[in-house]
Amino acid sequence: MQTVLELANATVWRGDDASIAALQEVSLSFREGESVAILGPNGSGKSTLLQVLAGSLRIEATEDADCRLFGEEFWDIETLRHRIGLVMPEEVSRFDPDEPAFQVVLSALRGSYGVVPGMRFSIKDRERASRAVDAMGAEELVERPFGRLSSGEKRRFLIARALTHDPGVLVLDEPTTALDFAASAGLQKVLRKLLKRGRTLIWVTHHPGEIPPEIQRVVMLKEGRVFADGPKKEVLTDPRLSRLFGLRLKATWSAGWCEVRA
Ligand code: ADP
Ligand code: MG
Repeated sequence: MQTVLELANATVWRGDDASIAALQEVSLSFREGESVAILGPNGSGKSTLLQVLAGSLRIEATEDADCRLFGEEFWDIETLRHRIGLVMPEEVSRFDPDEPAFQVVLSALRGSYGVVPGMRFSIKDRERASRAVDAMGAEELVERPFGRLSSGEKRRFLIARALTHDPGVLVLDEPTTALDFAASAGLQKVLRKLLKRGRTLIWVTHHPGEIPPEIQRVVMLKEGRVFADGPKKEVLTDPRLSRLFGLRLKATWSAGWCEVRA
């Protein structure tokens, strides 16, 4: 099976003077068809890892380090955008705030951030975008300027955007932040359907309770390093969770779902 991401001894420096080691000697791989939840405290490197996976951040070039996306050491960002659906908070600022929200979704079909003059869409394209919008329950907001939506409404459109072209890999950075109950439930439903269809899901969350039973693997990150990686039941244990977050935590299980409480 093809790998989506292969990292060996990967270090990523961030900050203006590149003094923050956001990832340190990380070795990890995600295979196609596999789904993974990523868990870790604020600043542990989760979003950095996703940006590496999206091809937008580079690892430090050292002799023993390696980073491959879909098996390739060098990739084309346009091709990646078609293969990976991204939901990341920083994406919001990439769109013209006056653009109708529907165009945010539609433009994903051309791998672009918004519709530019000369871009053409077929009826089929519009139907695909509408289906994704419907799945997120945002059909009534399609004409509204994207910049004037609430953060939860914007998030619904970013998720719809990531779903439009039905990519093989979906990468979600805390997707339920700012979503209300109905939107979170809608997202759960869509994602579980995709999981059943064998899509690859890489999902960063602060809420283990959101991880559906279909996701079997959990990766914990702490201070830029892999703290644990393995089957959900083996990773989400009380001592591990407590050490990860520096607080006494207790996990309870029911039908493949895990609830964590302090
Ligand atoms: P997480 O998503 O787990 O909260 P991040 O990957 O965003 O963590 O951040 C990892 C580290 O990199 C943190 O110390 C954070 O402050 C730093 N960092 C993240 N983004 C930037 C940025 N754009 N500029 C400078 N430092 C950053
Ligand atoms: Mg983050």
